[in-house]
Amino acid sequence: MSSQLSVYNTLSRTKEIFEPINPPFVGLYVCGPTVYNEVHTGNLRTFTSFDIIYRYLVFLGYKVRYVRNITDAGHLTNDAGEGVNRMESQARLEKLEPMEVVQKYTVGFHEVCRKFNLIRPTIEPTATGHIVEQIEMIKQLIDNGVAYESNGSVYFDVKKYNEINVYGVLSGRNIDELIAGYRDLDGQDEKRNSIDFALWKKADISHIMQWPSPWGNGFPGWHLECSVMSTKYLGETFDIHGGGMDLKFPHHECEIAQNVGAIGVAPVKYWLHSNMLNFNGQKMSKSLGNSVLPTELITGNHPLLEKAYSPMTVRFLFLMSHYSSESDISNKALQDAEKGYKKLMQSLKLLIEMPFVDGEMDSALDNEINKELELAKDNMNDDFNTPRALANLFALSSHINTFFHNGKKVVRIQRATYDELVRIFNGFLLDVFGLAMEEESNSMAMDGVMQLVIEMRNDARNKKDWPMSDKIRDYLKNAGIVLKDNKDGDTSYEVI
Ligand code: AMP
Ligand code: ZN
Repeated sequence: MSSQLSVYNTLSRTKEIFEPINPPFVGLYVCGPTVYNEVHTGNLRTFTSFDIIYRYLVFLGYKVRYVRNITDAGHLTNDAGEGVNRMESQARLEKLEPMEVVQKYTVGFHEVCRKFNLIRPTIEPTATGHIVEQIEMIKQLIDNGVAYESNGSVYFDVKKYNEINVYGVLSGRNIDELIAGYRDLDGQDEKRNSIDFALWKKADISHIMQWPSPWGNGFPGWHLECSVMSTKYLGETFDIHGGGMDLKFPHHECEIAQNVGAIGVAPVKYWLHSNMLNFNGQKMSKSLGNSVLPTELITGNHPLLEKAYSPMTVRFLFLMSHYSSESDISNKALQDAEKGYKKLMQSLKLLIEMPFVDGEMDSALDNEINKELELAKDNMNDDFNTPRALANLFALSSHINTFFHNGKKVVRIQRATYDELVRIFNGFLLDVFGLAMEEESNSMAMDGVMQLVIEMRNDARNKKDWPMSDKIRDYLKNAGIVLKDNKDGDTSYEVI
């Protein structure tokens, strides 16, 4: 019997057996990107961690509703709820409409997700599409006595809330210490207490993004959108809420307080937090100036990169650390990941492409493979431990390589063991880890493009457009591709 899935719940600070509220259905909410600039590789690591968690839940047979929002309003330059709206300040900088900024970076984010093989969430709601629901939740909080209007803005009354509930259950922070820490900040005069956070911010005419509300024109607070959208699509209490470790406080703490304050129930059964990606030993972040963009990794176009790295190499690098541990990106780590990815993909190719031939039974090998398969499953069930599961796949890959002799796959294990090996080796690499056969898809795309180029050259030759046909040949030659006109009239190409 295989082990059951257990997950580390930040709320209880323990590993717990995963028991969905309404099996086989699972509700998963992940905080999405704030679309005011390009996602960096650190952001990508967090989204990939939850992509793998989502994929594994599906692999186990759960029917998952996966909601990941797009923050296109409300996120201010300071996470404590002060400063200016990120989309608006970027819009001023780029001389664009805020919604052009939102569209540009949403499209860019989707493109990165596609390249790195992230599965789209089943629902991807936006904050601006849920202003009405956000206003409704604020009204509820005011009615329940845990929010108050002040000068056209509405704030959550943390002290009042804390009289009945505990503020700080997730992060373990204590409100007296928090109040002491906030004392010196500016712009606190509208609030009853410095730790109160904005649910609605009054907007003067200089703000482009604003909506009417019972408290005048304004825009919603960042924390509110996730409470509203998770509740709307997953219900008042749902299974898993994920996000980066840095969102635990204040963002997720505020989400819990908003839900409990408005609805009276804690929203989430399991809180999962993924850890940060470091570059040169420091958290990767735009503000620290040490961010590498996913496209810079693919092109190698970054002063600190020695070469280009493929999307699957980067994915493999992420898999090499547990999602709740820090991960370091460096040329050395990427090159190790590249080797590891190629090795496992090579075994996978052997496993799926070669025909099966029964060989003489080797019970010791059969036992070894079964043991390693059980360990791989146990490791994934142990809070999605991808680095340890990868180690099992490496051990299995060595066994798979022993099957091959003189171009034949001679399998000396039981058929049931072999079937399970294929199910786990393929299933983990392709379906759960989301790795794809990179070379194959690239060469297929290349074939497609070359077919078009050859046709264009043939058209030019038929029209006796010799300058054009020569130009195509010369361009290709410069790119290291030689065209060969065969005797039968066909043209083929060769990469030199
Ligand atoms: P943002 O667009 O700033 O709201 O961030 C999107 C996600 O990326 C959040 O879940 C953050 O926790 C996460 N994140 C930000 N920086 C890093 C980093 N260096 N490593 C991993 N995740 C990060
Ligand atoms: Zn959120």
